[in-house]
Amino acid sequence: MTRTIYDKSKGAREASAQARARDHQLDIPKALLRASSPDLPEVAELTAVRHYTSISQKNFSIDTRFYPLGSCTMKYNPRAAHKVALDPGFLGRHPLAPDEFDQGFLQVRMELEAHLKRLTGMAAVSLTPMAGAQGEFAGLSIMRAYLLSEGQTERDEILVPEAAHGTNPASAAMCGFKVREIPLAASGDIDEEALKAALSERTAGLMLTNPSTCGLFEQRIVEIARAVHEAGGLLYYDGANLNAIVGRVRPADMGFDVIHMNLHKTFATPHGGGGPGAGPIGVVERLKAFLPMPYARYMDDGSIELEGRFEQTTNAHPSSIGRLSAFGGNAGVLIRALAYIRLLGGEGLRRVSSHAVLAAAYVAKRLADAGFELAWPDRRATHEFVISLKKEYKDYGVTALDFSKRLLDYGFHPPTNYFPLLVPECFLIEPTETESLEELDAFVEAMIAIRGEAAKDPTILTNAPHTTPVSRLDEVKAVKTLDLGVHLREAHQS
Ligand SMILES: *Cc1c(COP(=O)(O)O)cnc(C)c1O
Repeated sequence: MTRTIYDKSKGAREASAQARARDHQLDIPKALLRASSPDLPEVAELTAVRHYTSISQKNFSIDTRFYPLGSCTMKYNPRAAHKVALDPGFLGRHPLAPDEFDQGFLQVRMELEAHLKRLTGMAAVSLTPMAGAQGEFAGLSIMRAYLLSEGQTERDEILVPEAAHGTNPASAAMCGFKVREIPLAASGDIDEEALKAALSERTAGLMLTNPSTCGLFEQRIVEIARAVHEAGGLLYYDGANLNAIVGRVRPADMGFDVIHMNLHKTFATPHGGGGPGAGPIGVVERLKAFLPMPYARYMDDGSIELEGRFEQTTNAHPSSIGRLSAFGGNAGVLIRALAYIRLLGGEGLRRVSSHAVLAAAYVAKRLADAGFELAWPDRRATHEFVISLKKEYKDYGVTALDFSKRLLDYGFHPPTNYFPLLVPECFLIEPTETESLEELDAFVEAMIAIRGEAAKDPTILTNAPHTTPVSRLDEVKAVKTLDLGVHLREAHQS
């Protein structure tokens, strides 16, 4: 059975769309040219198209189905934003070209920085981090550099709520901080008493997501920020959930000093499977000098310079934490973000957050009405919310994982499961603003139908999925000895 495109190779066939360049007088020294041709598959264009189209159809994607994966904001990313990033002028850029050939893209950077500053209230923004996690690393490095510059060498603790995303404590540890977990109160907010008790002259700062990974807006964020500042610490904002508040609330006004934004979540870059991202950071005035390089800035003649593209430090910026990425960031993601922001405008961005929250509140209400248990029933959903399937587990022996697998048969990507860990058998559900009412209803109906199946015959769930190319995988083995070819073969045989 065919495993890869190589197995379909017949020799002397070719796809003209990808025909090799012939007879080019290449300027490559003879010694460096290969002696034999590379062992590439030789197939007709149609064979190649069918092969890759068929593989792509085995994928689950936002383009095919509803994808309510909490905390990830798997929303539709408009093709219009993508199209701008594919403009030949942008695509044809050479990353090493001098600034004078790159003025268009540098203008994109300047405008995007300005918009992100306005949206977050931060004094300055750096576009260079390539992911949310790298933004965290950059932001925490800035906090450390700042504290050291103030002579505060004893501040080595970062506080994180127990429900924090795993990257938060990981980034803090990578920056050399000790991590202290703060429990949640029964309300779902961070436990303010526990926080105050943990604050000390060792506190470097607190990392928070707001709304939190529990889908709740910290009601006392202003008091929390004041307490941390009074203790001499800084506040780090994990902006992964910006989709809930974009255009409405600014992290700077909540009291945050450093923030990262996951452009691939809120601002129109499709992600998943480790795809390209960008995690720009923003800082308040007193942290500006520590921002990573490079810096785009206007020169006297109106042109733009990307200062510090290749150096680790410059004389003009001795406090900078240095350079984080090869070419100052992920260009395509930055272009999409600017296109998206300009496409929607301020009003449009406000609609994003209001519809994201409305969709989540609607699905939460419908599920609760149908008897599913909300983790925090007295709280309003933000752009996402948590349910617990512990009753279903007790009554029918089916787990959140079983529900997840069965949802695939109904054509839905499962929500994030078993996160936040403190809620047993939980789903973190994020519908996003781009789904229709019909789609949201269909998801609720599927959840109800699956619970009905669990009551009748739990094996329908425990053996699910039944309709996907492969059924349950040994997850540990799938990670350790990934063999997509075997899975494809099984798929072809069934
Ligand atoms: C996605 C996410 C991150 C990490 O962002 P990446 O861009 O995946 O590195 C951090 N915190 C939260 C809450 C997230 O959802």
